[in-house]
Amino acid sequence: MNRTLRRVKHKIVVMSGKGGVGKSTVATNIAVGLSLAGKKVGLLDVDVHGPSIPRLLSLRDAKVHIDANHIEPVPWSENLSVMSLGFLLPNPYQPVIWRGPVKQGFIQQLLADVAWGDLDYMIVDCPPGTGDEPLSVLQMLGADAKAVIVTTPQGVAVDDVRRSVTFVGDVGNSVLGIVENMSGIVCSQCGHVENIFGKGGGMRLAQETGVRFLGEIPLDPEVVRSGDEGYCFLKVQTDSPTAKAIQKILKPILLLPDPQDPAQAAVAAPAGFAPAPAETGIVKVAVPLAKGQLTQHFGHCEQLAVVTANFDTKEILSSELVTPPPHEPSVMPAFVERLGVRLVIAGGMGQKAQTLFNEKNITVICGARSDNGTGIGPSEVVSRYMQGTLPAGANTCDH
Ligand code: ADP
Repeated sequence: MNRTLRRVKHKIVVMSGKGGVGKSTVATNIAVGLSLAGKKVGLLDVDVHGPSIPRLLSLRDAKVHIDANHIEPVPWSENLSVMSLGFLLPNPYQPVIWRGPVKQGFIQQLLADVAWGDLDYMIVDCPPGTGDEPLSVLQMLGADAKAVIVTTPQGVAVDDVRRSVTFVGDVGNSVLGIVENMSGIVCSQCGHVENIFGKGGGMRLAQETGVRFLGEIPLDPEVVRSGDEGYCFLKVQTDSPTAKAIQKILKPILLLPDPQDPAQAAVAAPAGFAPAPAETGIVKVAVPLAKGQLTQHFGHCEQLAVVTANFDTKEILSSELVTPPPHEPSVMPAFVERLGVRLVIAGGMGQKAQTLFNEKNITVICGARSDNGTGIGPSEVVSRYMQGTLPAGANTCDH
């Protein structure tokens, strides 16, 4: 097992609280997107109850080469290889009726014996839920495997995901982020997005659990068609709102520091730092200050620093101080929005205020800390955030 997995830089397990939320679709699009970005990717479908990756990628007739020592993955492109239980079943319509230990053994074999070679990313489509099978997948992959959890906006789905977040933490792995799928429906006539199931459940859960919200993918008839007909959505639809939403989700995954490069690995310390930035281009960032330093309580801020930075080159372009209006929950988000700010970096901020910012499409990073007791100024806060070295812990304000 180690022999195979040691050659993989990033292991990403795509999980969901239950079936049918689009886990396989998200796993496939992440794998394809990373491969189109030039990365060497392996997509492993260990969803023993419903292996759907062969259909999603039009590989249903693929033949797998197996010898005594290893299983050859099926190439989908130069950069993307695929392995699925679906390739090994004599009949794709046959349900898999195996007892637990047989399933575990099979999952173990797929994880250990597939000859991927060197990979930048292994994307694993995991069985849904929080039972024995996802548990085995995480344990066999090891503590450095990170989870992407897929949900839909409805309350019940969000509750399932809350369980998944706890489950991943209990097993000892970290959650890379939450994706809200089927978030609104794209009208096939005008392209307008209608929120039929409500919206924002995934983002609220991400805030509540301190997990990164990777983004939301609308319910798009083109995604259904691409899945049914087995063509690659991301390759055909490059400019649609859905393709752009998937590209946004890919960004932080592409920015994961290389664990085999010691300089980058130092930055990658999973605990104790703010998550890697998802922002690109020129961004205005607001930092709440008291006595000129990052304050731990947003509600006590005396001044706001508005720092403009180029997130591509990681340069600070300018910084100005503004005096905010008297604090009332709904006033600050509107004020900050008028300043053109897209990101707030705070020590602590109450849940309600975070939601109000998010409703204005302003991202909030909470739990930022001044690590050395002397405090750090706003440009330094933004600089460190861009470099991935901003100390961060729990939200220091939970009321
Ligand atoms: P899971 O792996 O969670 O069981 P799938 O990825 O197989 O779910 O998706 C279930 C169905 O929903 C498939 O028919 C798929 O094409 C469809 N689907 C998934 N995501 C979307 C989306 N964003 N828009 C439209 N249809 C989607």
